[in-house]
Amino acid sequence: MPSKFSQSVCDLAAGGILTIDLGALRHNYLAIAQRLAPTRAGAVVKADCYGLGADRVAPVFYEAGCRDFFVAHLGEALKLKPALPADATIYILNGLQPETESLAAKEGFVPALNSLEQLENWAAEAKGLGQKLPAMLQLDTGMSRLGLSAEELDRLTQMPSLLDPIDIRFIISHLACGDEPENPANASQLAAMNAALARLPKCPVAFSNSGGCFLDKTYHFDLARPGIALYGVGPASGENPIMPVVSLSARVIQVREITAGAAIGYGGTFVAKAPMRIATIAVGYADGWFRTLSNKGAAYHGETRLPIVGRVSMDSITLDVSALPAGTLKLGSLVELIGPHQSLETVARDCDTIPYEILTALGHRYARFYIDSSAAQDK
Ligand SMILES: *Cc1c(COP(=O)(O)O)cnc(C)c1O
Repeated sequence: MPSKFSQSVCDLAAGGILTIDLGALRHNYLAIAQRLAPTRAGAVVKADCYGLGADRVAPVFYEAGCRDFFVAHLGEALKLKPALPADATIYILNGLQPETESLAAKEGFVPALNSLEQLENWAAEAKGLGQKLPAMLQLDTGMSRLGLSAEELDRLTQMPSLLDPIDIRFIISHLACGDEPENPANASQLAAMNAALARLPKCPVAFSNSGGCFLDKTYHFDLARPGIALYGVGPASGENPIMPVVSLSARVIQVREITAGAAIGYGGTFVAKAPMRIATIAVGYADGWFRTLSNKGAAYHGETRLPIVGRVSMDSITLDVSALPAGTLKLGSLVELIGPHQSLETVARDCDTIPYEILTALGHRYARFYIDSSAAQDK
């Protein structure tokens, strides 16, 4: 909302309140950096810091010591640059589209070279400018998504001069199963990486995502690229030093008593078997509360679980609040969607998805508060 309105009006004007804890973000970055040292910890800040607001969040990582920031697209890099001091490096994981090389070079971005074609395009740009240009060389070690294939690596090792115009800052690859410590795919990707590195000029290496940061140090190399762990989702097993970052609450917009036989929501997919008390909240699938949560999942009031009944609408959700005494919830009350009683991981499980998708879908209709829990503790 425009800033001429007070914060409390902005808060009441929205259907829900999204609170992002900058102190927890700092804690998570430092916890990972400490775990990785002497490996450097970068920060993956693509998709607007996984939906949490790159202009507010990326500077927190910078202040905590991060200098390596990874986005997916050139457009994201352009948007992020003004939020960071000049000694931060911005890396573009998806690489560059043809004809964007001169813009990326002028801005000082470090693109991934995901194919020989991208390598040749970047080399041509460098030759045109008469200077070496920085890049990450990405190898596909078993994910079949991005990076030089085995044949392309063969061709590159036969023509090493292709690399002459390029300042390879890092050779990188990406783990497909880093979040599953027992998965043998991790060890085979690591072996493929080490075999490829032995055939290339010696360069620093960046290999691990969040999952890899919690594998043993043979996965860490020189620089790591954690994302989701910074945003509050730690390893599912073993020691977890990661703090939750996000909490979300939704406004009640109506409470009603219904009789047995009454249908709830679009399609009448829920029919009351007995009298019930229903609260409607002002969050819907347009706010990233997916429609797959219809008749599934819940909100909380204190310790009380309030199941979702009926379909999730675009702008509202109906909750069974029969377990609460009449009058507990009323117009303007708040219920918890993500917080101490319901974690982001639980919501993701209810949606048959992963926390990444929940975070990046939260959208821009919430009133957003950036708090610093660590500052509150210091006082
Ligand atoms: C998204 C991404 C990351 C971060 O992954 P997390 O699982 O969020 O830690 C790291 N590297 C690459 C190439 C990515 O695309």
